[in-house]
Order: sequence, then C-alpha cells, then structure tokens
Amino acid sequence: MAKEIFAIFGNPVSHSKSPLMHNLAFQGLGYDACYTRHLLEDGTKLKETFFNLKLKGVNVTVPHKEAAFNACDELDSFAQKIGVVNTIVEREGKLYGYNTDAPGFLKAISEFKEVKTVLFLGAGGTAQSTSSILRDEGYEVTLLNRSQERLEKYKADGFQTYTFETFEPCAFDLVINMTSAGLADNNLPAPQHILDTVIPKAKACVDVIYGKETPFLKLSKNHQKPTKDGSDMLLYQGIIAFEHFTDYSYTFNEIKPLMQKVFDFN
Ligand code: NDP
Repeated sequence: MAKEIFAIFGNPVSHSKSPLMHNLAFQGLGYDACYTRHLLEDGTKLKETFFNLKLKGVNVTVPHKEAAFNACDELDSFAQKIGVVNTIVEREGKLYGYNTDAPGFLKAISEFKEVKTVLFLGAGGTAQSTSSILRDEGYEVTLLNRSQERLEKYKADGFQTYTFETFEPCAFDLVINMTSAGLADNNLPAPQHILDTVIPKAKACVDVIYGKETPFLKLSKNHQKPTKDGSDMLLYQGIIAFEHFTDYSYTFNEIKPLMQKVFDFN
C-alpha cells in the first residue's frame, strides 16, 4: 500500500502546529504516513487540490472551513448541522467531512465541574460550532459580541445574545474568550468594566487562544479565577481528527502522549 499523505489547508498555514502533532503520532505509532501543509488560496479549489495532491485526509483551517463543508460528499450528523468542516478523509474516492473543533473544545472544558451557564465573548466561526455542541450537551450559552451583525444567526437559533451596549450583567459559571482579541494584540475581548462584573462571579475563565497569556487570562488571574488556555482544545481536536484519519485504529489515550509532545517544541 502506498504511503498515506495528509495535510492542513489554510491561508495562512505556515504557523500551524498540525503537521508536527500528526507526524509525532504517526511516527510514535509506526503508522506509515506523513503530514504536510498546503497554502490554499481559493477555497473553491479545495476538492481539486485534495485529489491533485493524492491526499488521504486533510485538516482545514481559516478561512476555508465552510468551503470544506461544501467539498464533502458525505458529512457526519454534527458537521451537517453546523455547516463547518475541519477534517476530511478520503474513502474509495469520496470525501467524508467531520468537525473536530467542537468535540475537542467540549472535552477541554469538561474538567470544570458543575458548570451550567456559559458566556461566550465573541460570535465568530469557532463560536458557531462550539456553541452548538455545548447546547446539545445541556449547557446554557449566552453570546456577547462587539458587533451586532454576527449575532443575528445565533439569535435566530434561539441563543441569548448581547452587544457591549445591550449587555445586562448577570452570573455565568464559565466565561470564555472566543475572539481573536489578544492573539496578535493586547486587546481585551470586551470592555473592562463588563469583564470586571462577569469574571468575579465565574467559577473559571477559558481562552481559546493558546501559547500565550492573553490580557483576558491575565485579568482573570488577577480576579483569582482558575484559568485554561486553548492548548487542550488544539490537542483534542487533533486527536479526534487522527482517530478519523486512521479509522479508529488507536485509542485516544495511545495518541495523546505522542501528540502532546508538540508543546515541547517552540
Ligand atoms: P472569527 O474571525 O470567525 O471571529 C472573530 C471574533 O472575534 C468575532 O466575534 C469578532 O467580533 C471578535 N473580535 C476580534 N477582535 C476583537 C476585538 N479586538 N475586540 C472584541 N472582539 C473582537 O475567528 P475564529 O472564530 O475563527 O477564531 C477565534 C479565536 O479562536 C482565534 O483567536 C483563534 O486563534 C482561536 N482558535 C483556537 C483553536 C484552538 O484549537 N485552540 C481552534 C480554532 C480557533 P466582531 O464580530 O465584532 O468582528
């Protein structure tokens, strides 16, 4: 059998940790495959590019997760529901699509017990899949976003939504930064006076950004709250994708220690 080749598609894609994560696992498990990266500029070319490169599977990152959804022949029920795909596997010439960001995130926050109400700061693409899975699991998700525009679809889906101007402070068990504020800048995801009312009432604060202490996490620590960054979300979405890539040949706990080594590299 020819060596299986996997890749990540995105734009940009040079920063992605996925190639290292997956190659560490392939190597550690003795699975004959390799994983590379591909800068995909035009999302409508996703399927064509996949087959031209003779790939077995891909992860898809910003801005092509909706294009990935459109490229698939078969979708699992969750990907079908949310319209966002980040993992594709080829089987007998057909492309099968999955979303592993959301279950990865769900697993990452499962360490926080007795959590019912969650405040999302942000309403972008990541919030879309994660809000849906959290609601399916019985959490009550409220969204607070800078602009009204992105909130419209959440409102239509029955979520409680606020902008900074309309927000009515109340208590939430978890406060989660789902924005890109703090990623390449020093911004808070919401005005400090709002955060100073919700953080003290929370049991814990979570950021989906990984590899740095964002202003949001810093503020949460100043309020003496337990915090967590996005590293586990990254790790868990990768492990779940790997399970699809290898058709569940390995358990989560066999893959985890190998992929986790990614955090030893800088
Ligand atoms: P999107 O571009 O889809 O959405 C960005 C969101 O951030 C919008 O709600 C936007 O609000 C808000 N935002 C951006 N800048 C600011 C600011 N300065 N102040 C307040 N709000 C702001 O991004 P994604 O959903 O794709 O990604 C969000 C974050 O999730 C990123 O930081 C990304 O790195 C991280 N991520 C982490 C993963 C992991 O594995 N740990 C996986 C995937 C994503 P508005 O509508 O007003 O513009």
